[in-house]
Amino acid sequence: LRAGRPARQMPFGPDSLTRVIAVTSGKGGVGKSTVTANLAVALAARGLAVGLVDADVHGFSIPGLLGLVDADGLPPHPTRIDDLMLPPVAHGVKTISIGMFLRRGRSDEPLGAVAWRGPMLHRTVQQFLTDVYFGDLDVLLLDMPPGTGDVAISVGQLLPHADVVVVTTPQAAASDVAIRSGLVARQTGQRVVGVVENMAGLTLPDGTTVDLFGSGGGAEVAAALSHEGEEVPVLASIPLSPELRADGDAGTPVVVTHPDDPAAVAITRLAERL
Ligand code: ADP
Repeated sequence: LRAGRPARQMPFGPDSLTRVIAVTSGKGGVGKSTVTANLAVALAARGLAVGLVDADVHGFSIPGLLGLVDADGLPPHPTRIDDLMLPPVAHGVKTISIGMFLRRGRSDEPLGAVAWRGPMLHRTVQQFLTDVYFGDLDVLLLDMPPGTGDVAISVGQLLPHADVVVVTTPQAAASDVAIRSGLVARQTGQRVVGVVENMAGLTLPDGTTVDLFGSGGGAEVAAALSHEGEEVPVLASIPLSPELRADGDAGTPVVVTHPDDPAAVAITRLAERL
């Protein structure tokens, strides 16, 4: 990453033809990154030119979810051309993540952790948007950090015209915080285009469904974020899926590996609705 030079012009400004979609959630662990990675792959499979910015700087997980790892199991470094970086591509998705820049320790050490404050986070997100050569994109997805912290505010300033998708679980405790992230996004001028409910009912082999995390969270968030004349829909309800989880761990997105899995079907439909 570059320090101390004037910022290049932002290619995803209001005049750009690229649709920018920031995927956010109120809290961690609701499956935001898993959904974003699979959504990016599903959009690319529809023939769209897709970029994915892993803006979840402290909790980055996109390289692993997309199987973007080298022989040492570490995210690859982007190739540099002059002072532009070429994003690695996985399943047709041009991807950039802080995980690709962290210092590599010895192979028996974990990747360095990110312990940065606001200004450093802001510069990182800004450089992901200006110094990475994505080329012409139809869609740029951002995997946002959960909640309403520094990065959310930076992205709101840098991409005020972005569409926002809010991910929640069906549980009331998750939906309350999800509503707050949607409201903060809207305060920066972004448009909340829909809610994705993840971790909905798990279907057992005997055909019965267990609502492990309750039900109704998606509809609750959508209703709370709707306002005069602008209804916010529930765009998808993605069931709990052992396959989705295992494929995420393996870095082989479920929409590619098990397209008939109910969670994969729901995400593929989400890609068609967006
Ligand atoms: P977040 O980005 O919101 O922190 P992650 O995408 O990292 O959440 O997901 C948290 C965990 O939940 C991961 O282990 C992931 O595999 C799992 N997970 C996400 N969605 C589902 C689902 N629909 N069914 C089963 N496991 C899921």
